[in-house]
Amino acid sequence: MSSHRGSVGAQGSEASTSNMETDSVELAELGPLPEEKGEPVIAKPNEAEEKQTCPGPQEEEEEEQVLTLPLQAHHAMEKMEEFVHKVWEGRWKVIPYEVLPEWLKDNDYLLHGHRPPMPSFRACFKSIFRIHTETGNIWTHLLGFVLFLFLGILTMLRPNAYFIIPLQEKVVFGMFFLSAVLCLSFSWLFHTVYCHSEKVSQTFSKLDYSGIALLIMGSFVPWLYYSFYCSPQPRLIYLSIICVLGISAIIVAQWDQFATPEHRPTRAAVFLGLGLSGVVPTMHFTITEGFVKATTVGQMGWIFLMAVLYITGTGLYAARIPERFFPGKFDIWFQSHQIFHVLVVAAAFVHFYGVSNLQEFRYGLKGGCTDDSLL
Ligand SMILES: [Zn+2]
Repeated sequence: MSSHRGSVGAQGSEASTSNMETDSVELAELGPLPEEKGEPVIAKPNEAEEKQTCPGPQEEEEEEQVLTLPLQAHHAMEKMEEFVHKVWEGRWKVIPYEVLPEWLKDNDYLLHGHRPPMPSFRACFKSIFRIHTETGNIWTHLLGFVLFLFLGILTMLRPNAYFIIPLQEKVVFGMFFLSAVLCLSFSWLFHTVYCHSEKVSQTFSKLDYSGIALLIMGSFVPWLYYSFYCSPQPRLIYLSIICVLGISAIIVAQWDQFATPEHRPTRAAVFLGLGLSGVVPTMHFTITEGFVKATTVGQMGWIFLMAVLYITGTGLYAARIPERFFPGKFDIWFQSHQIFHVLVVAAAFVHFYGVSNLQEFRYGLKGGCTDDSLL
């Protein structure tokens, strides 16, 4: 197929005009049909036309006319089969933004390198190993998923001697790891099957957004647990509030319009708001214990770094920086969504580090709560 290399867009439009049966962008944009197969079966449309125009006996002419419709239907079927075959074989080509169907149009600063719609999960999953606009998005969270799965298993397998109340603490850490693993896997799955069909992309985008809310909720659990170790009442109140807010965000994410490009700032605001609700317990801790204790044993430095990473990522995501300034230059690598993904993984890792330090500190105190101790 090397002779067909070049501008995919141009090829696509040529293909669509030269073929009688279809002007469907999805089919045409898959590139030229496999000519080298050379199966004798069905004549090409123009050959069929030639046949029809060939002078012959009257009965034959009538017969040809009767045959035209089923023949066209057969061509269409043949074309469809070839399409499915091509998709399954992974022989699709990337396409430019302007020929994407409406439901696949998300970021108009990414000009080229998009996957065509591929209504086959097998083809979608095979595309993980191809280079296109979603490759970076898939891998950043696929690797993040592997990292957190590994860290989670390691933490769960830690000997009980390292904990004051092993079961309770493992549940607390387990909730954080479960939320991270779910968020990252929903995300890489969404980016993988995003091009399957409108329905699939819509379903998985809702899972993806719900995963972000889950990660934020899950991150609060060990942090509140160890920060307010000796104050069960405020701890329970803060945990309940973040659960209510997180569930509200998940409910909002089920709204069909939430995933549209117009609501990109709405999404950023919902998740930023959810994350920033952590300012209240942070202030509570800092006012009660003082700035020095908050930044040392309270691990506020790490929590602050986590917030900076997370807010920067969300800001870049909402504003679509850097591709906004150089449209077409970040189609494959370093687009805002990938940077956002990397910063989310980094923020979750920093959070895990900070929370592990908090756990170690409480372990050092042997779980004791005295009048002059933290909270
Ligand atoms: Zn994403």
